[in-house]
Amino acid sequence: MSTIAQELQALHAELPPGVSLCAVSKFHPVEALREAYNAGQRIFGESRVQELREKQAAMPADVEWHFIGHLQPNKVKYIAPFVSLIHAVDTPKLLAEISRQGAKVGRQIPCLLQVHVAQEESKFGFAPDELRSYMAEGTWREHPNALISGLMCMATFTDDEAQIAREFATAAALFSELRAAHFADAPHFAVRSWGMSDDYPLAIASGSNIVRIGTRIFGQRQY
Ligand SMILES: *Cc1c(COP(=O)(O)O)cnc(C)c1O
Repeated sequence: MSTIAQELQALHAELPPGVSLCAVSKFHPVEALREAYNAGQRIFGESRVQELREKQAAMPADVEWHFIGHLQPNKVKYIAPFVSLIHAVDTPKLLAEISRQGAKVGRQIPCLLQVHVAQEESKFGFAPDELRSYMAEGTWREHPNALISGLMCMATFTDDEAQIAREFATAAALFSELRAAHFADAPHFAVRSWGMSDDYPLAIASGSNIVRIGTRIFGQRQY
């Protein structure tokens, strides 16, 4: 068995029922994705539009492609026909464009709102209060072809596990709050995307149900 297949098997043994694994394959060659596919993996995460399109064309049709990176509105059109989930909607403008492109291709495109819980200023996303006001204000309802399906976040890059756990807990509490306030009759609002190779056990403890794991499966990326 390949290392990739072994890592996938070990991860699946660890993940509790109800937690999906998004295999983050960015910067890895298609051969690596094929190995994962042959080991049964179907959800792959990519963070660049051009790379995602090339890999989508090269891989079997039953792969579910997740876009996990920062997405520029003018590039949504290239992935709108096939993307299964857009993880990191970080502006109202991006949400509106996803809906517009979804309508063009006759789809409701599932997407997650990115909430900024980390300390680093460089990370994208809505601050918690910004997200509360945006949801309360309600203009998102004018963009029904972007199907808001939950929240995504990234924790601070640190060894301080207590801090990471606090940040995930903030996202989890906000998820519950927004669900109660705006999605009580919308069961599709159910996705909590947090946790990467170094922090997924903490993420799962804080209610994550999609972990996005790259390095642990595929090894170091080539930058
Ligand atoms: C690259 C990336 C990951 C995967 O990170 P690893 O540490 O390699 O597991 C997860 N989420 C996002 C948004 C990423 O950009």
